[in-house]
Amino acid sequence: MPPINETHDPALRSWVGSAQEPGCDFPLQNLPHAVFRRAGSSEPWRGGVAIGDQVLDLAAALASGAFDAASAAAREALADAALPALNALMARSPEDWSALRLALSRALREGAAAQARLAPALVPQAQVEYTVPAHIGDYTDFYTSVHHATNIGRLFRPDQPLMPNYKWVPIGYHGRASTIGVSGQAFARPQGQTLPAGATQPVFGACQRLDYELELGLYIGAGNAPGEPIPIGQAERHLFGVCLLNDWSARDIQAWEYQPLGPFLSKNFATTVSPWVVTLEALAPFRVPFVRPVEDPQPLPYLDDAQQRRAGAIDVQLEVWLETEASRAAGGGAMRLTRTSYRHAYWTPAQLVAHHSVNGCALQPGDLLGTGTLSGPTPGEAGALIELTRGGREPLALPDGSSRTFLRDGDAVILRGWCEAPGAARIGFGECRGTVLPARHPAG
Ligand code: CA
Repeated sequence: MPPINETHDPALRSWVGSAQEPGCDFPLQNLPHAVFRRAGSSEPWRGGVAIGDQVLDLAAALASGAFDAASAAAREALADAALPALNALMARSPEDWSALRLALSRALREGAAAQARLAPALVPQAQVEYTVPAHIGDYTDFYTSVHHATNIGRLFRPDQPLMPNYKWVPIGYHGRASTIGVSGQAFARPQGQTLPAGATQPVFGACQRLDYELELGLYIGAGNAPGEPIPIGQAERHLFGVCLLNDWSARDIQAWEYQPLGPFLSKNFATTVSPWVVTLEALAPFRVPFVRPVEDPQPLPYLDDAQQRRAGAIDVQLEVWLETEASRAAGGGAMRLTRTSYRHAYWTPAQLVAHHSVNGCALQPGDLLGTGTLSGPTPGEAGALIELTRGGREPLALPDGSSRTFLRDGDAVILRGWCEAPGAARIGFGECRGTVLPARHPAG
């Protein structure tokens, strides 16, 4: 678990003035990574770090000589962080990540000698576009909110909402990496088979119950060799960082297809991630104990240790916002649907890594683990429409006068996340936005 160090000092200020603006997601204490280029250009993709409302172009920063005096570990990590995908950086050790963070923090502080060399390497975030920041070889989606699992289970199986394995096994399924897109993604409403209520045969057509899922994504750092499990005490050394993730879900397709092997085409038509990856080290001030109710089964030994009990969970504040076509046209902006925190998750990031590899499964740098929908304990903390509308039975009244059971064409869903704690600088994740387009009807 990364320790608190000088890079977390809340008193630190950057020579990039916007980093100090109240509510800024990217103060000097954050320093998340992304892959970007100037919007609409044919420039090469390259790595960048967010500071205030700017991106520090790491390829330009490297070429500027501003880091020539930094440690060898920091310079080598910087060269990898400047590449068009972050896999090489992710494959490094936490010590290398930390050396790079320290060098960046010192170079971007008020009064830093590097300012003159680095200022030309800044690009306004308003002028850039992003791509998925790593080659994601494999994507696994978990199911770590017991509140979501119970709410969904009640709708699909009223007699047995929570399966008997839930409190023992971090439940997950293997997803598809090929349709993961970065914030700004727009995708066609999926088509598929559904079983209408009361029918005995399915129909084919556009999804009628399209939903979002509020999740976080965890990027794997260094991998493990096949057959060599990652012990719980080492698991966080294999976690590079965290992003926002929207696991778009076709509930009507899901209800018909999910037994016995779980979600398939109801989930793999689109998944949207935020461009910025917040490192585990940046999240150090926001760690909270992993707690398990005394009446629940305690984790098996391979999923439990003192470090997890002390600070295995992360307190990330999360919100879902909806922007409808009507609200966009009226200039009304987005409407908030949900506010919750990642701290309510039943399983921690380290437990997911330990469990995923315990059978010998190999994880690789850049692999993405979704946390599952992060619904909190109260109804207003639900991370999907199917929960907020109780299976579509109770439409949600929106401030613009319209209502929703499930998503309509033109709807944009925006996820936001940030962390705050006494004695720490507030840091944020930026946003994760995706838009639903009309279904593409096949010819004929
Ligand atoms: Ca999910």
